[in-house]
Amino acid sequence: MEIPAHPFIYGASTKGRPTVIYKNFEYGKVRENQNGEIYWRCKMYFSLKCKAHLKTLNNRIITNENQEHNHHGNISTSLARLAVAQMKEKMGETSATTAAVVGTVSCQLDDHVLQALPKRASLSRSLQRHRKAALANNDDASGSPLVEK
Ligand SMILES: [Zn+2]
Repeated sequence: MEIPAHPFIYGASTKGRPTVIYKNFEYGKVRENQNGEIYWRCKMYFSLKCKAHLKTLNNRIITNENQEHNHHGNISTSLARLAVAQMKEKMGETSATTAAVVGTVSCQLDDHVLQALPKRASLSRSLQRHRKAALANNDDASGSPLVEK
């Protein structure tokens, strides 16, 4: 039987746990079986006792038999968190300014995600903190003018 492709994306991990974003919901990783199947549970499992879950194998969703969420989906904050993670990644690997990094990632975001981003000033501060920390772990970058004043 042909498995239909359900488009999903990997979210930014929270507390070290990977997540996936599918339709309007975000799921946290519960376990990975020996055959590579990964079992994901709705992020609202604990707070709202939502029972929705899904399984993936080789980056495809192989079952979504329980998609009955007991709450509305809102992935704006999930996608905003992912965007911030992407910004941090860019901050660690390019010499672009904070504003350029924010701009590059932001221009790919929908309005509802932009609205869920942290305030610009606090976003910049946390990105710059991240860059300083990344530089501290990278001797090769010493002396390069990456850190903005
Ligand atoms: Zn749910």
